[in-house]
Amino acid sequence: MSTPTIDLEILRTLHRLHRQLSDVRERLDRGPKQIKAAEANAAHRQTLLEQARTDEKAFRVALDQKQLQFKGAEVQVKDLEIKRNTAQSNREYQLLTEQIQATRMANDVLADEILEALDRTEQYKDRIRQAEAELSAAKGKLDKVQTAFCSEEPQLKEKMKQLETELKTAEESLPPEIREPYRRVVRQRGEDALASVENQSCSGCHQKIPLNTYSLILVGQPIFCKTCGRMLYTPEGHVREARKEEE
Ligand SMILES: [Zn+2]
Repeated sequence: MSTPTIDLEILRTLHRLHRQLSDVRERLDRGPKQIKAAEANAAHRQTLLEQARTDEKAFRVALDQKQLQFKGAEVQVKDLEIKRNTAQSNREYQLLTEQIQATRMANDVLADEILEALDRTEQYKDRIRQAEAELSAAKGKLDKVQTAFCSEEPQLKEKMKQLETELKTAEESLPPEIREPYRRVVRQRGEDALASVENQSCSGCHQKIPLNTYSLILVGQPIFCKTCGRMLYTPEGHVREARKEEE
């Protein structure tokens, strides 16, 4: 039984088709991943904005409460002063004076706290504004990747179908004896199932190809790299160059 020979052009075409298919599949795969990541980011930004709003609200409620407490204490001081004006004894006067002083002191502390809190109001508002801007940017990014993939997906799917058909046709041109070992290496290596010979080396693993093996590749014998298993072929023009050297 003679060894089958292959038109080297078929191997070049097969490798090109495998690479193109793998590129298209990768892009089809990448789109949904980018969308998912953008969705997760937008959801995260939404949570941060809600948190900023909740914090600001809690802060405002606490501030309102302090201000109410402050006003209540001022009223209390006034009431105590009125009572003191009508004090029946020195002792009562003294007690009321102490009470007024204590209430005022407590209110001074409260006033400091209120002033400090008023200073922080802007910080809370800034945090909300920042979170709103970040959410808006995240939504914009999501919209962008969704739109891009929506317009790209049908073309990519069309391209994939076309490449698969071309690949099937090219595979059918392989001699029957080669198909099984070819399929095996495709299953194992995908787009790296084939490799061109560059500088008399396998371009996949850079192992040197012995001269007699190289001659066999040139005449179209099916050769798989002994080191990496890739199916070897020579790039266009190599046959002619080799023949020139023989002349
Ligand atoms: Zn190799």
